[in-house]
Amino acid sequence: MATYVEEHLIEKDVKVMLSARVETILEDGVKLQNGQTVHGDMVFVATGVKPEVTLAKAGGIATGESGAIKVDQRMETNIKDIYACGDCIEQYHVVTGKPVYRPLGSTANKTGRIAGENISGGQLLFRGILGTGIFKIFDLAVAQTGLSEKEAKELGYSVVVSHNIKPSKPFYMGGKELVIKAIADKLTGKLLGVQIIGEDGVDKRLDVFVTAITYGAKAEDLFHLDLGYAPPFSITKDPVMYTGMILDNAIHKERRLMTIEELEKLKASGKPYKIIDARVPKQFEKKHVTGAINIPHENFRMHLKDLDKEIIIITYCNKGTTGNAVQNILMNHGYKEVYNISGGHNTAEKNKKKTKQ
Ligand SMILES: Cc1cc2nc3c(=O)[nH]c(=O)nc-3n(C[C@H](O)[C@H](O)[C@H](O)COP(=O)(O)OP(=O)(O)OC[C@H]3O[C@@H](n4cnc5c(N)ncnc54)[C@H](O)[C@@H]3O)c2cc1C
Repeated sequence: MATYVEEHLIEKDVKVMLSARVETILEDGVKLQNGQTVHGDMVFVATGVKPEVTLAKAGGIATGESGAIKVDQRMETNIKDIYACGDCIEQYHVVTGKPVYRPLGSTANKTGRIAGENISGGQLLFRGILGTGIFKIFDLAVAQTGLSEKEAKELGYSVVVSHNIKPSKPFYMGGKELVIKAIADKLTGKLLGVQIIGEDGVDKRLDVFVTAITYGAKAEDLFHLDLGYAPPFSITKDPVMYTGMILDNAIHKERRLMTIEELEKLKASGKPYKIIDARVPKQFEKKHVTGAINIPHENFRMHLKDLDKEIIIITYCNKGTTGNAVQNILMNHGYKEVYNISGGHNTAEKNKKKTKQ
């Protein structure tokens, strides 16, 4: 997903230097570890946020795993009648139930209200956070909620990852492509996290996902949401619903997805496999996944006889839909282990860039 941001920055004439470590801040720029000097008018330092807990600690107030003040759901600390809220407290994660530290204005404001309510005799309980965040960089909105793929894997979930690219509304209504990466738990089917990038309609989809994850929705539930549709606002099946359909297909209907990292692992494993590019020859000739053969969707059935049923087959198209159609044909003809590349060639290309860095 970060590659989309990088490309957008470059489009806007920003020089992006990755893995470049700053050694010294100079009067007119910075000096990098590799000796290079980069000139500029201003230097921004983004080093994260640490809670200031000196006073709290001196008063015997307990801190949590993250180093921030530990509070209960009423915002009361370990010392009776002493409450804490805002950026100095540790929260807990809705999905994992584990402590997390995500100092954000949305949470600070909410925890302030909860502390106030309880201090004045009420009973309002904090229900945790998903670590939801959204920001805008030039024209691009970048949003995230719940667990990332990496976090989910580290926590031991058996993850299914989908990438889908759909317009925010019809292109004739000024729609722009949205890229949605979603992570679900294979065992329970529950949604664990989502990341979205796009120029239009990102916030709306993010908040639908936040609501769904908060209430423990399964991937299959997303398709059934009665979301608002008219051309100025969305497409008939909203991108959120497509996310649910893709994940549900992968979890329950054996329409398995393969990420490009998993494809690399398969290649290294020595197992026999075949990669099928289901796009038109012109697109294949322009660029394709290394090792792929081109069998376009339109005459795919004619070539079935040439494909071995016993080996692993990986299909793909540009964004995932036609790759899935070809996967369906294969599975309906008794091919057992067929994967569709998650997010298609477009996502594979982004990944290639990331790996090169
Ligand atoms: C540049 C920036 C952009 C941000 N953008 C977003 C965003 O888009 N969305 C989002 O959700 N969050 C955002 N945040 C985070 C958000 O601002 C904080 O989470 C929020 O303000 C925390 O509220 P708070 O009341 O806990 O702490 P603060 O707002 O930091 O308030 C603490 C106050 O205590 C005062 N203080 C400190 N020490 C003492 C002392 N010893 N005596 C008296 N007063 C003291 C400080 O001066 C300050 O006024 C952003 C933060 C920054 C820095």
